[in-house]
Order: sequence, then structure tokens, then C-alpha cells
Amino acid sequence: MREDAEFKSILMLGLSAMALFFSFGFFLPAVLAEPGFLVVSVVLFVIGIALIIASRVVKHRMRKQIARLTDELHVKCDYCGGVNDRDQHRCAFCGAPIVTLPHKGSSAGPTFR
Ligand SMILES: [Zn+2]
Repeated sequence: MREDAEFKSILMLGLSAMALFFSFGFFLPAVLAEPGFLVVSVVLFVIGIALIIASRVVKHRMRKQIARLTDELHVKCDYCGGVNDRDQHRCAFCGAPIVTLPHKGSSAGPTFR
């Protein structure tokens, strides 16, 4: 999953580089001889920029997902701030008891309707 997102973002960057390259390739003849090529050049340029943005979005989303997963598996010590596994009962750094809070959104406590 992580490799997949990374691959996608790299692929998009490669495609955007290609689109920008061809955009420039069409831009030169457009300026020199054939103004009709300018449309092709602009379209390719826009595609290239869009792909760069999309690749950034994919990367950002992946980072968020990883952060969420680490957050689910680990719990921070209230006393020293050390990061411990969720299934541990005592902090590996200072030995303080770890209080595992129920997940946000889980149906803990009374629900009002
Ligand atoms: Zn601690």
C-alpha cells in the first residue's frame, strides 16, 4: 500500500516531466512557425502542472495515513512523552503505568439523541 502510493507519485512526476518536456517541444515551433501548436503546448503544460500537484497530494495523503497508523499502534507516555506499543502496560522509558484511552469515535459513554 505504501509502496503503491510511492510508485504512483513517482510515476506521476515522471509523466509530468514528460508532459512539460513535450510542451516545450511544441512551444518552439509554435513561436517560430505554426501558432496552432501553441494550444497543444499549453494543454501539455497544464497536464504537467496538474500531475505535479496530484503527485504531491498522493504523497501527502500517504504521509497522513502512516501517521494515523502509527498513532493507532502506539501510545505516548503521559510522564516522559516516550512512545510505547499500545499493548504495553508500563512505559519502557520511565516505568510509569500507561493509560490507554478508548479510541475517539468508539461508542464509549452514553450517547445522547
Ligand atoms: Zn514514560
